[in-house]
Amino acid sequence: MTARARPQRGPVRRPFRIALLALLLLLVITIALWRITKLPCWQMVGEVTCRIETGEKIVALSFDDGPTPEGVDAVIDELAKRRVHATFFLIGSKMARYPELAKRLLAAGHELGNHSWSHKRMIGRSQAFYREEIARTDALLRAAGVAHPTLFRPPFGRRLAGLPLAVEQEGYRSITWDVADDAVHNITPETYARDIVSRARPGSIILIHPMYRGNRVERAAVPLVLDGLAAKGYRIVTVGELLKGEQPE
Ligand SMILES: [Zn+2]
Repeated sequence: MTARARPQRGPVRRPFRIALLALLLLLVITIALWRITKLPCWQMVGEVTCRIETGEKIVALSFDDGPTPEGVDAVIDELAKRRVHATFFLIGSKMARYPELAKRLLAAGHELGNHSWSHKRMIGRSQAFYREEIARTDALLRAAGVAHPTLFRPPFGRRLAGLPLAVEQEGYRSITWDVADDAVHNITPETYARDIVSRARPGSIILIHPMYRGNRVERAAVPLVLDGLAAKGYRIVTVGELLKGEQPE
């Protein structure tokens, strides 16, 4: 009798096991996809540039988010003092709030890129949503004086297939970074700058976040990063300038 009891339990437990396995598989796939969305140098669809191959001691400096008055004020003079031009990836809704800031950055010779309209996470949304995010900001960049905006940086660096597709269709190129300020907790501007400078290599695209009110360490570190890179013999350029030095594969 006990031998017959076992097979009876099988059909009850099997669906449960299958469901559990399916759930686990789904979880693993979700985690894998989520990690894939943040890979700086690889994406599912189209091309992404996180750095370039070059023998020259040259790096591009990029600033994300904003524009905000405190961010632009802090950075623009430090760059001017050293005659350095950088790339600012601006959020459309912030540009609409501070239209004069984009013009000020342009007048100072900096390059402006598109960082979406809302800075929402761009995963699992419609093509129409992605394209509108890009196009609305594109219109403001052109209104500010950028003749042909071509550089797009995904908010949080995250993208799967839909956003890169829209980026290409809107005539843009996806630009990420290979050196960024990942952990800015309880560190001094000096430590922050030393970390960035030590990780830069020829062809790097560096990302710094100076725009939000709380980003004091980042803002204070900007002159230190500029001087640190110069001391190591690096020439600092815009992303657009860096891309001109790209070697064909
Ligand atoms: Zn951002």
